[in-house]
Amino acid sequence: MDWELSLFNILLVVTIYEGFHGYLFYKSKEVRKEGKVSVRVLDISEENAITLNSLFFRDSVVFLSDKLNDRILRHEEGHTKQFNYIYAFLLAVAALLPLSNFIAIPAVLLGKFLLWKMERDADLYAYTKYNIKYESVAERPKSKIDRIKAWLFDTHPPDYIRTKEEYYEKKNSLIKLLLNDLLS
Ligand SMILES: [Zn+2]
Repeated sequence: MDWELSLFNILLVVTIYEGFHGYLFYKSKEVRKEGKVSVRVLDISEENAITLNSLFFRDSVVFLSDKLNDRILRHEEGHTKQFNYIYAFLLAVAALLPLSNFIAIPAVLLGKFLLWKMERDADLYAYTKYNIKYESVAERPKSKIDRIKAWLFDTHPPDYIRTKEEYYEKKNSLIKLLLNDLLS
């Protein structure tokens, strides 16, 4: 029965997603509390942070090194305030995939877009509320293929886009930024 497979898939996604976030929560230690956001550290010497926004583990930012970085924290704070589109998306795909395999290809594109959207919204949050822009020395690749790769294989929009003036103007949609980047 298809719906049984759908149910199985949903349980699988929930287990993996909650399990991953639960692991990060219990392995990390709280170092600070900001309002209702718990700032935590799980030191694996990586200068990055993950926001916990699953059903059971929320309002927590886990730094992966003991050097707390305020710029990163403001971006992650943006994530704590978001609806978790990606989780909802994964659940929808898990439920629908047994009904039709055809949704797989548009689903990958939609998933990619939702990831970009969440990342940009968090960047816009940090910028609007704290005037913090993403900093990077990355240069825009000269070759179009390399630019396509930069868009496709990173969970965020490319670094050289995240540092641009236009990126912080809300009226410029990500699609527009993407097309401008690839066509010019
Ligand atoms: Zn992010």
